[in-house]
Amino acid sequence: MAQSAEEMHEQPLLAGDAVRVETDGGAKLVGIVCGDCEAKVFPPVPVCPECMSENVSEIELSDQGSLYTWSVVHVAPKNWKVPYTAGYVDLPEGVRVFAHIVGADSDKLEMDMPMFLTTAVLGQDEAGPVESYAFTPVAK
Ligand SMILES: [Zn+2]
Repeated sequence: MAQSAEEMHEQPLLAGDAVRVETDGGAKLVGIVCGDCEAKVFPPVPVCPECMSENVSEIELSDQGSLYTWSVVHVAPKNWKVPYTAGYVDLPEGVRVFAHIVGADSDKLEMDMPMFLTTAVLGQDEAGPVESYAFTPVAK
């Protein structure tokens, strides 16, 4: 079911163009929609990976989805808080988003659990805390 942490680790965790943090502290993920084949993709890319069209435009994606899979990561580049939980969340648009999963112990997570988008401090660099998007379980 779960991918190994090593595989997951290949994925970019911080995607500056892919998230907009609103003034109220809420976050929105930004993806693209292809004008030719209607594929939706996250994070945003200049060329549609399905049909190679450059006729793509930015869209804001849903801030809720369901948990597809996750893994606890114990080894990370220095400055990252470990262990952390990383996973894939499926959005209603058919987009699968790789993100940190916060706000719940990993043994409390379940497949298809409803999740919503938030932001979290995920590490530390020279400039201070590194904040990015993350998903957290919807409170029951
Ligand atoms: Zn396309």
